[in-house]
Amino acid sequence: MQELNNSIYDIIIVGLGPAGVTAGLYSLRNNLKTLMIGETFGGATLVSGEIENWPGAVNTNGFEMAEKFEEQIRHYSPDESCIKRSLVKTIDKQGNLFRVLNKDGTEFFSKAVIYSTGSESRKLNIPGEQEYRNKGVTYCATCDGPLYRNKDVAIIGGGNSAMKASLMMLNIAKSVIVVSINPQFSGEQISIKQLEKAEKEGKVRMIVSGKTSEVRGNGKFVDKVVVEHVDTGVAEEIAVQGVFVEIGLIPITEPVKELGLKMNRIGEIETNREMTTNVPGFFVAGDVCDVRDKQIIVASALGCTAALSAAEYVQNFE
Ligand SMILES: Cc1cc2nc3c(=O)[nH]c(=O)nc-3n(C[C@H](O)[C@H](O)[C@H](O)COP(=O)(O)OP(=O)(O)OC[C@H]3O[C@@H](n4cnc5c(N)ncnc54)[C@H](O)[C@@H]3O)c2cc1C
Repeated sequence: MQELNNSIYDIIIVGLGPAGVTAGLYSLRNNLKTLMIGETFGGATLVSGEIENWPGAVNTNGFEMAEKFEEQIRHYSPDESCIKRSLVKTIDKQGNLFRVLNKDGTEFFSKAVIYSTGSESRKLNIPGEQEYRNKGVTYCATCDGPLYRNKDVAIIGGGNSAMKASLMMLNIAKSVIVVSINPQFSGEQISIKQLEKAEKEGKVRMIVSGKTSEVRGNGKFVDKVVVEHVDTGVAEEIAVQGVFVEIGLIPITEPVKELGLKMNRIGEIETNREMTTNVPGFFVAGDVCDVRDKQIIVASALGCTAALSAAEYVQNFE
């Protein structure tokens, strides 16, 4: 059984979401000296709400999934010696090894790294957004939606997350307005159709070409959102108590900014079908990298590939 210490690990995995957990499973089962670093198991599944597209489970949810992730890792490491509960501050290269420095001051060395930190919510960067954060402005309908029972809410965004949040809030809020800056909504057709049906029934208002320009409030809580209609130039003040910002994600790459990794124009780490990067020994998986589909099953699959590629790298390590 391995001990959590400063000797050299074969593989350090950063992030305990679906990508990191799958990478961990493969590495542990391959008998590689593995350290998994993260605060909690589950990653974004914890805010995903109901999950209906994970094979083998007609319906599950993020909490159930996170529990099962942890249980499965503990099965291979009952004393948790492969888990370090912390956040990584920086990763750099020291000779041919990676040095991983954590926010709690601990540091570890490894031959290879699998980096799977996922992403965080993109912000609107408009007046009032920061001031009213958690006072009406939220970035997670699944987490905060039930707090807005019988309230008027606006969902900002036109993609899948916005569609999902809008459909969820239809069952909770008094009224729902969904605002997309683009001329069309771009989420899954099935969700758009459901919303359009709800709009015909007067349950939701769908605004396209609407630029959300300000969040206003009474000093304590949100009471309005301002939407500028791009086509007419008219700014409309809409009374709401909740503003759900669902406009996409930003990959978390701050800890690796000194490594010289190649990234695409939206800051995702560039990879290939082996999940390697331009830095030898540094592998990526999941939402942090430049794969198209940000889904649990995809993140898991990429975690598997990253672990198998990293194992090969470790085997040939000199
Ligand atoms: C609201 C919502 C609903 C969703 N619904 C679905 C759905 O129904 N079905 C589906 O398939 N997908 C869904 N998704 C997408 C899915 O959750 C993600 O694609 C998936 O979780 C990505 O996995 P990941 O392991 O790459 O990253 P994540 O799940 O984001 O995990 C990354 C982990 O790394 C941690 N981390 C970040 N920085 C550090 C650091 N410095 N040190 C250590 N750890 C760090 C993070 O805290 C996080 O725990 C949803 C996402 C959201 C936001």
